[in-house]
Amino acid sequence: MTVTSLGLPTVFRPVGAAPASGPLIDTFGRVATDLRVSLTDRCNLRCTYCMPAEGLDWLATEQVLSTEELVRLLRIAVTRLGITNVRFTGGEPLLAKDLDRVIAATAALRPRPQIALTTNGVALHRRAQALAEAGLDRVNVSLDTVDATHFAAITRRDRLDDVIAGLAAAQRAGLRPVKVNAVLDPQTGRDDVVALLKFCLQHDYQLRVIEQMPLDAGHSWERGSVLTAAEILETLRGHFTLTPDTAPRGSAPAQLWRVDGGSATVGVIASVSEAFCAACDRTRLTADGQVRNCLFATRETDLRALLRDGSDDDAIEAAWRSAMWQKAAGHGINDPSFVQPARPMSAIGG
Ligand code: SAM
Ligand code: SF4
Repeated sequence: MTVTSLGLPTVFRPVGAAPASGPLIDTFGRVATDLRVSLTDRCNLRCTYCMPAEGLDWLATEQVLSTEELVRLLRIAVTRLGITNVRFTGGEPLLAKDLDRVIAATAALRPRPQIALTTNGVALHRRAQALAEAGLDRVNVSLDTVDATHFAAITRRDRLDDVIAGLAAAQRAGLRPVKVNAVLDPQTGRDDVVALLKFCLQHDYQLRVIEQMPLDAGHSWERGSVLTAAEILETLRGHFTLTPDTAPRGSAPAQLWRVDGGSATVGVIASVSEAFCAACDRTRLTADGQVRNCLFATRETDLRALLRDGSDDDAIEAAWRSAMWQKAAGHGINDPSFVQPARPMSAIGG
């Protein structure tokens, strides 16, 4: 059998139509069980690697799914397509209307999926308790540095104290383990990651560092300026003893390392330098109701049109299955022919 550079068989079975039932599978045999839902493309920060300083057009209100439309798609995903994990993201999901209601409706589905949120944490200190009561299980807070000057330069806003308060509120609300996602700045990242890991160890947050990917609004990403997983590990090893965590990794993208012989871990996600597409179990829904079978997909499947033309659940299910069936072997960032998706990360949902 021939295999691709990603370790995938070139063909799982003859490509015909997607199966009409069973797991949400692609032609390489990968099964999607993890749904990422972008609730809005709007944000209260302007991270340099994600959004422009100004001038990005927002989706118009009528383009965004209504709460009822979204809840219908969540029901189809969980009860018909086998989704077991739902993560709400954005844009900034805490800016989305009805977030608590959407979480409560998701928690009422059976079998009940695990429900997580990826947020910049700016408004989390006011919301964490209510979100936990609505049914949120876990939270990932994006924080790239604990240096206030660096934070303001990366996010173009002065909100570090709010994010730190949000992390503490999540911990108090029992949204554990509280994870911190960091994308490192090419200039300051080597210093930032050391201080960030110390901060996370002190507060019992789990740090995950992710390589910067070509998903910025300005399409100005340069491979040469990305801090790679190897460079991040080399930097951390100058300050901490890291030993590989032996727990099975499954489809989790982070390679975990135990820190200084204790129980705390740090994760490094080598999304560019060592793609993990072969183990991908994700399907994505944008705020305007488009299914994406990959972060880097250049094609989308319009479920909003089906929702609004009176299509029944069978038709929506079939369209979603067909979208996933066409998932490519890998993201292709490292191929010369790679084309960055038109939408920036803020409009896809990270
Ligand atoms: N606003 C929320 C937040 O920042 O957590 C949720 C949306 S944000 C797009 C989700 C995640 O994507 C964040 O952890 C962010 O750091 C990450 N991200 C954004 N642009 C990225 C890029 N170009 N490469 C890698 N990760 C990126
Ligand atoms: Fe906003 Fe998150 Fe993008 Fe930063 S990474 S600009 S917080 S959507």
